[in-house]
Order: sequence, then C-alpha cells, then structure tokens
Amino acid sequence: MGAAPEGALSAERSADGTVAAPASSAPRLALYCEQLTKVYRGPRPVQALRGVSLQVAEGEFVALMGPSGSGKSTLLHILGGIDTPTSGRVVLDGIDLSTLDAEALTRLRRDRTGFVFQFFNLLPTLTVWENVDLPFALGAPHNGYRTERVRHNLARMGLLGYEHHTPQELSGGEQQRVAIARALVTRPAIVFADEPTGNLDYATSTEILHLLRTCAREYGQTIVLVTHSAAVAAYADRVLLVRDGQIHDEIVLGRREEHSATALIARLAELGL
Ligand code: ADP
Ligand code: MG
Repeated sequence: MGAAPEGALSAERSADGTVAAPASSAPRLALYCEQLTKVYRGPRPVQALRGVSLQVAEGEFVALMGPSGSGKSTLLHILGGIDTPTSGRVVLDGIDLSTLDAEALTRLRRDRTGFVFQFFNLLPTLTVWENVDLPFALGAPHNGYRTERVRHNLARMGLLGYEHHTPQELSGGEQQRVAIARALVTRPAIVFADEPTGNLDYATSTEILHLLRTCAREYGQTIVLVTHSAAVAAYADRVLLVRDGQIHDEIVLGRREEHSATALIARLAELGL
C-alpha cells in the first residue's frame, strides 16, 4: 500500500485540539464494487446477491454484518476474487477484477490480499512455519526478506517457539493466529476475514479482533470482516448491514478506543433490527 502522504502526519491542529485532515489526503479507495449480483445455478437457483455496491477506503476496518444465509460469505468471496459475480464489477487495489485472466487473478489474490476463515484452513501436514511461509512457497514476492517476514509475523502473533508444531498440536486461538500470520505475511493491501472468531471462545475472540484492528490502525491495512455478531462488528469503523443479498443500512462507528457494542446495538434497535 502507498505510504501516507507527508501532510497526513503533520495535519494542522485547531484551537480545540482536533486534527483536521488536509484536503489533499482524501483516502484512496482500497476496494469498491458496483451492482454485484450472484445467482447460484442449480435445480433451484438461489439469488445470493441482489445488487450490492460499496466502497472501502484504504486503512478502513469495515464489518459486513447480517444473519446466516444473507449473502455475506458470497459477497466476501466475490470482493476477494475467490468467486465471480453473475453481474457487476469489483475494483480491488485499483484493478477491475473482471479484466484479469485466471493467472493474473491468482497472482493478485496471492500478493495483494489475505484471507482468514472461520475454520482456519491451515494445511495439517505442514508446520506452523511452513503454513505462514506458504504464500512465498507459492511464489509471492518477498524482496529477499522471506525468512524475516515469516519470523516477524510469527512474533507479531505471539507464535515464536511454535514454529515446528503442526496445527493439530495448537489450540483454536493459536491456529487462528497462525492463519492471520499467513494472511499478513505478504503485507496485503486488504485482509478479508469470514467469521474469524466464529469458532473461538470470548477471550480468544477479543484478542483476534484486537490483532485485526491493529493491522488497520498501525499498518494501514484495509480489513473487511464478515460476522453475524454485533459484538464482533462493534470493532469496525463502519458496519454494513447485509439482508437478503443487499446492503440494507450502514452504521458509522468511527475510530475510537472503547470496544463497547452499546452504540451499535442502540442503532440496530432504532432500525428495528
Ligand atoms: P452467509 O455467509 O450470510 O451465511 P452465504 O453467502 O453463504 O450467506 O449464502 C447466501 C445464500 O446463497 C444462501 O441461501 C445459501 O444457501 C446460498 N449459497 C451459498 N453458497 C452456495 C453454493 N455454492 N451453491 C448454492 N447456493 C449457495
Ligand atoms: Mg457465511
């Protein structure tokens, strides 16, 4: 991702101490989509998406929240280039995904995105180190810093000392931290997470959500997270409510330090949800 412009770091401070972002530093879009539809063909076709448009700024943490079956995973997979829409388009990191052939799409996914899934999706026969190194083994560029990058991300996730373990020797929370280290090792512009805490206890979930938020806050990475839980969505800067294959509403929470879900739950109540 591009470095923050000089001006963004030395934004002018007004008399009341608030920092006004310079006009020139309007955030770049990390991701947007226009009028996405998705129909799963079959004996009983399912229209999973019904015209979804959204924009995500660079460094933003967005949650897609909605009930089971509302189309969240379908949307996430299409935004991340894992699946293709029936109509509409996705522009990721400035590139219209529909213009890429299969090989270019694979490369873009490998180099510019990271995916974290509910069930971790680690390779059971590989060690922790090999799992985190996997994107490089598959050819992702590392500028000669392959070992350093793997070690740095293991350290960041508190996994030093576990390098030679296999996934089944780890707890669920540790496995998810390995999956996050793997997702981050290429320094992707965008991290997609599909119910990343759906299979974890409360304390571990909190830890994972803090780690994801740190990616946005300290590393400027863009996070798009799918969840059915208001408590999880409350970690995001902005919550998009997904209903029946559409974005039903948007709740802007903004960047704040407290992790209370109260404001989000109050707003959901106002919306009658
Ligand atoms: P969510 O992640 O919000 O639970 P999904 O995106 O998984 O929702 O599913 C949206 C709808 O699409 C559901 O009705 C689901 O049954 C259907 N669906 C999802 N994947 C497939 C598939 N591969 N084939 C057919 N229908 C699917
Ligand atoms: Mg899902």
